[in-house]
Amino acid sequence: MKDRINVLAKAIKVENIQKLQDTFITLFQVPITLLDVKGTSITENTIEEIVPKKEVLELVNRNQKTLLEARKELPERGIVTETLPLILKNHLLGSWAFVYPMHDNKREDFIQYLRSANQVLEVTLENNKNIYDIFDDFINLTNANMVLTDYESGKIIMCNDQYRESLQNYEKISVSENTSIYDFEIEFIPKEIREALRGEEEQNKQSYTWEIYVERLSKWFEFVSRSINWMDGRLAILTTFADITEKKNEEERIHYLAYNDKRLGIPNGIKLFEDIQNLGINSHYMICFNVQGLRKVNNLYGRESGDKLLKNIVTWISKVLNFRYPIYRIEKDDFVVFADNSSELETMNVARFLHNRFEQPWDIDLDEVFQEIFVGVHMGVIEVDNSMESYERMQNVIDKVMTYARKENRLILFDERINEELKELLKFEEDLKFCVLNNMNGFSLNFQPIVEAATGRWIGCEALCRWNRPEFGPVRPDLFILEAEKLGLINILTKWVLTEAIRNVKEWELDKCERFMLDVNLSPIQLRDRELVGLIREVLNYYNYPAEKLSLEITESAEVHFDEKTLKQLDYIRETGISLSLDDFGIGYATFSNLRVLPVDVLKTDRSFMMGIEEDEYLQYMMKVMVEFAHAADIEVIAEGVETEEQLNILKENGVGMIQGYYFSRPLPTDLMEENLHKFQ
Ligand code: C2E
Ligand code: CA
Ligand code: CA
Repeated sequence: MKDRINVLAKAIKVENIQKLQDTFITLFQVPITLLDVKGTSITENTIEEIVPKKEVLELVNRNQKTLLEARKELPERGIVTETLPLILKNHLLGSWAFVYPMHDNKREDFIQYLRSANQVLEVTLENNKNIYDIFDDFINLTNANMVLTDYESGKIIMCNDQYRESLQNYEKISVSENTSIYDFEIEFIPKEIREALRGEEEQNKQSYTWEIYVERLSKWFEFVSRSINWMDGRLAILTTFADITEKKNEEERIHYLAYNDKRLGIPNGIKLFEDIQNLGINSHYMICFNVQGLRKVNNLYGRESGDKLLKNIVTWISKVLNFRYPIYRIEKDDFVVFADNSSELETMNVARFLHNRFEQPWDIDLDEVFQEIFVGVHMGVIEVDNSMESYERMQNVIDKVMTYARKENRLILFDERINEELKELLKFEEDLKFCVLNNMNGFSLNFQPIVEAATGRWIGCEALCRWNRPEFGPVRPDLFILEAEKLGLINILTKWVLTEAIRNVKEWELDKCERFMLDVNLSPIQLRDRELVGLIREVLNYYNYPAEKLSLEITESAEVHFDEKTLKQLDYIRETGISLSLDDFGIGYATFSNLRVLPVDVLKTDRSFMMGIEEDEYLQYMMKVMVEFAHAADIEVIAEGVETEEQLNILKENGVGMIQGYYFSRPLPTDLMEENLHKFQ
């Protein structure tokens, strides 16, 4: 006993600060380091970089006698460091610093604990209290169960009150098969762990954390062990343990939620992605499929029935595949059966089998009544390769497989050719996204003049977007526009076109020409966007550009019809003074019947009308009718795609007022446009 006291006493006299720290660190069982008054760590190397020295210094300088704390959060490392001065006998020895994970609710406890530790030292040193009692006070200050064991035998040397109390709670916790936690006579710390600690010991006494699950109690315990030089000189292990069952359960729950689909109880796309990352070198395939008509089922019978249907499908698949291949739900009605370690032939057979099943109806139970429901499926099989390096990429591939299968309307095997196409498409999308999101990198504008038919004078222009794809060159606008719509990038693109066009036109002072009109294209889907008008107004205001000199070109499409909502939006646009032009008139969806209800100012006949109009009386007649019809409704006409003088003359004869086409000018990049500004009236 006397020996022990001496060791600690010596340490506290700071003859050996390292030993003092050693004793403390094991007692507190949190990553603690001691700093000297200068703020330099006198403990292990690793801690040194964690502790904010600046703070320590500040602390020391501010007031050496009170317990001030300095706190620093290091979110990038997910930790918080806390420093307190270490004061003995009114003498600042240095500071405590400890580190704990962010969001740890134990923080307050620790602070309290360190404070008391300081006070104990102060008080007891003042009163010349027995040094062994100080030690006892120390280990009993902690809330943790603390137990000290002999290194060689693994047997318990001593423990704290908290530990004794816990024993009553836990009765008999089996640490290993024939070891119980309260038994002083037997090996408490298993040999493997002692050995692990010996290994660690050489690297400066790190702690060793281990967990055990005690089945009988259905509880998880976490042990933190650390080897120390005990007071009598022998090597010992100081261990704390805590019941971490709740934390464990929560972890498991979070894990489960992150990796599983809540409604169907099967793994989700995130899990699939993880599983793909852990694959061996054998061949692996994904059978991607999309259940058709889920929305209809949801609408007809309610969402719960839709879930039931999916559950039936998933259960059936799991069963017939005998759980050999797992099934994942990627999104709503998108699923993947993952055929790992499987050949192409084997996978295709499975896929065909699954695909055929969808020719039969599925039973669902609607309030005790069984209903047979037919749903379609689109299915594609693709080999998993290392191109799925990100979750987004994987999802994209699955998407593409399904889209392709939908288009072909049969079971698809992605062979090398389709695979190449697919990869090119993915690359195209990625490039486009990258460029649009990086300040419209690689994009530029062309302007094509709109000309007065009678005089040949330039009276307006249409802004046309260009994309020079890095490493590939120019891409056709209709291609990238379509893709931008699909990828949800069209708003950014339109805003840029509008801004750039107005900026240029303003710079060229074209808005000062009496009849000038700038045409900018809108994508049909943007007519659904409620914020569109606000956005346009913003740009107009910014450049102080008159709304009357802007025309938005709109088209009707398969997705967007001119229904009541859209018409309202169009009215709203016109109320701001902006004109509307109906683009690509005469083909596809834009029809005469529309003209009666549409609030448009200009009609642009599609350029397909120009092809062969010289010889084709029917086309000439159509043109005539369109013009008469438009004029009757007080709508002006621009003929697009005019390439020859003959075409021009026919149009003039038919009363077309404005022309846009190669005959007068191709779309011009800004520098060429600048050379031609004099042609505007
Ligand atoms: P669009 O709106 O019908 O634009 C007119 C297209 O006809 C332009 O093609 C133009 O170069 C072409 N064109 C003009 N005169 C002639 C001619 O005499 N002969 C021939 N063969 N073609 C002529 P471009 O620039 O390739 O644009 C294609 C389509 O891409 C546009 O058709 C438009 O739908 C879309 N687009 C272009 N820029 C934008 C934009 O900024 N936003 C949106 N939403 N769509 C755009
Ligand atoms: Ca247009
Ligand atoms: Ca057009």
